[in-house]
Amino acid sequence: MSKIIEVKNLKKYYPIKINWRQQAVVKAVDGISFSVSAGQTLGLVGESGCGKSTTGMTVLRLVEPTDGDIIFEGKNIKDLNRVQMRLYRKKMQIIFQDPYASLNPRWKIGNTIAEALEIHKLATGQIGKLRVEELLDRVGIDPSYKNRYPHEFSGGQRQRIGIARALAVRPQFIVCDEPVSALDVSVQAQIINLLAELQDEMNLSYLFIAHDLGVVRQICQRVAVMYLGKIVEYAGSEDLFNNPLHPYTKALLSAVPVPDPLAKRDEIVLTGDIPSPLNPPRGCSFNPRCPYAKAYCREKAPQLSTVGDRLVACHLVNKIRGDQDAAITEMAQAN
Ligand code: SF4
Repeated sequence: MSKIIEVKNLKKYYPIKINWRQQAVVKAVDGISFSVSAGQTLGLVGESGCGKSTTGMTVLRLVEPTDGDIIFEGKNIKDLNRVQMRLYRKKMQIIFQDPYASLNPRWKIGNTIAEALEIHKLATGQIGKLRVEELLDRVGIDPSYKNRYPHEFSGGQRQRIGIARALAVRPQFIVCDEPVSALDVSVQAQIINLLAELQDEMNLSYLFIAHDLGVVRQICQRVAVMYLGKIVEYAGSEDLFNNPLHPYTKALLSAVPVPDPLAKRDEIVLTGDIPSPLNPPRGCSFNPRCPYAKAYCREKAPQLSTVGDRLVACHLVNKIRGDQDAAITEMAQAN
């Protein structure tokens, strides 16, 4: 399957002043790599503050990357200037978590969608109006509501309008930044179904950012788990949900509610908060919260390495997955 976007060693660092003498760097995204194939969805999950949303914005160059490559349809767009980027802007869109904040409250929703068409010279006048109606209809909003303002709609309807605006420019790749987190559970399912239908119809590719793992399982073919600016596990969705290997992934999944109250499960309770990216722990950044941590974990940061069909960044992954032979070498290092 062809890759629509490939991100290599992406970094986004923010220099900040601690006091008038000292400068520090917050590594919001610290050398991550992933790709999304045409018509597929990659989930990006992790706790708040792990760098998921910064990754989404940086991939679209709404935030400028510090380093790395962003290869879209075979072209590295990282160093393109504003004019050159214009062609790619319409191919790459974003749907935000809070649709109300992303819609102009003083504009009728029809005008908001028409603006996207006009900026990219896709349709104006009568053709533009018809296209706006067609888009509203496709996302499940009555086209006769085009003269209404955002406050006249519910949260779910506003998210549908946000989706219509993103679709207006016929994108190929959409960053969905927590698109259902602010919605009621019943409405979440409708929006997820809509995104899935649109993907099938238009062969869209999504980078789906979320902290709700149940939703991610439903819509994503592959999943990248982020912790403190880095990817710690990158795997096919079924592999990851059926058999998580990184201790952090295990902890995240163990906290997902299951419908059967009698189902037996070993919940791993994560203690403490995600550490400050300003002062990350030495060695493996997960070590202060990891139930498997050894002395070695506090010395050296693990690299993402291949384990079967996936990538995992953990010194003790073979012990955790029960590969005894590989675990002997691993334990010799760790003790
Ligand atoms: Fe835990 Fe060590 Fe693996 Fe980090 S490297 S996740 S601290 S076992």
